Amino acid sequence: MILITGGAGYIGSHCALALLNRNEKIVIIDNLDNGHIETINALKNIGNVEFIKGDLKNKKDIEFIFKNFDIDTLMHFAGYIQVEESTQNPSKYYENNIIGTINLLNTMVEYNVKKIIFSSTCAIYGEPEYLPIDENHPKNPLNPYGKTKLIIEEMLDDYDKAYDIKSVRLRYFNVAGADCSAGIGEWHQPETHLIPNILKSVFEKEKIFNIFGNDYDTFDGTCIRDYVNVEDLACAHVLALEYLKKENKTECINIGTSQGNSVKEIFDTVKLISGKNIPVEFKPRRAGDAAKLIADTKKARKILNWEPAHSLHDSIKSAYLWEKSKLARLNFDV
Ligand code: UDP
Repeated sequence: MILITGGAGYIGSHCALALLNRNEKIVIIDNLDNGHIETINALKNIGNVEFIKGDLKNKKDIEFIFKNFDIDTLMHFAGYIQVEESTQNPSKYYENNIIGTINLLNTMVEYNVKKIIFSSTCAIYGEPEYLPIDENHPKNPLNPYGKTKLIIEEMLDDYDKAYDIKSVRLRYFNVAGADCSAGIGEWHQPETHLIPNILKSVFEKEKIFNIFGNDYDTFDGTCIRDYVNVEDLACAHVLALEYLKKENKTECINIGTSQGNSVKEIFDTVKLISGKNIPVEFKPRRAGDAAKLIADTKKARKILNWEPAHSLHDSIKSAYLWEKSKLARLNFDV
């Protein structure tokens, strides 16, 4: 059985869905701080999901699961992810992300569980020294959020050496899209991410969308990111799981598309898909934003045999449909 931490969140729920579609048995732990019970209910409509509302900071919550379910592998998504908040309230990030993971790893040791897929991030690289960014790029995270992810990667190396726990760390670039047919998608509160924020301005009357910075050294002055589709990302997790079972080797792997798109390009695509005139303003740069982040994904292609299957247009269309259906469910006028 696979334990998914943070399975009520955006990426965790899409990975849970991919595993359910392969008839894997899963148990989800989530404290629902940022995850949603509606997401768990949507997953329960699709397959057999055990859900435990619990917190990784309470080791007893983790032990309860290991005692009651036959866990052989973990997918670890639980963690706080807001960059700006992490700079204002670092203790929340170190306490939750690090202590939660220590409790998780120690329980793995106690129950002799040796395999974990970890949700890492390109934020561990910091300001790019070259592009595209490969896995060997220097690691200088710019904020406590990125630092917690890097510390966890380092902890995983030490737990590998000491206890033979093998991990695949997937370092995601920007993630986009939703699985509308399953009723799951991106839903953060507060929302800080680009595509959901543009969509807010599509659906909320007179809500102005802010572009942070139009003076970057890029072709149109706005930041460039590498947007990978969330279903493709979930597929990478399934392949990582197979890799871990077959090869029993620790690896770090970038997951992106190797393509960059600017904030303006994303904005124009949302405009096209929604058919709406979205109010927009340019604002100063957001602290800590790099001009360009693009993944080198050769390793994912080579060792996982993974290829992104969805276009950026597909991702944005599905995000649009998800936002619309979510607002309709919540009884907003859309
Ligand atoms: N961005 C923006 N307006 C927003 C949210 C984001 O202009 O309301 C820009 C942000 O400055 C960055 C890009 O969109 O250049 C992607 O930001 P996001 O927060 O989605 O992901 P990040 O790259 O920070 O992980």
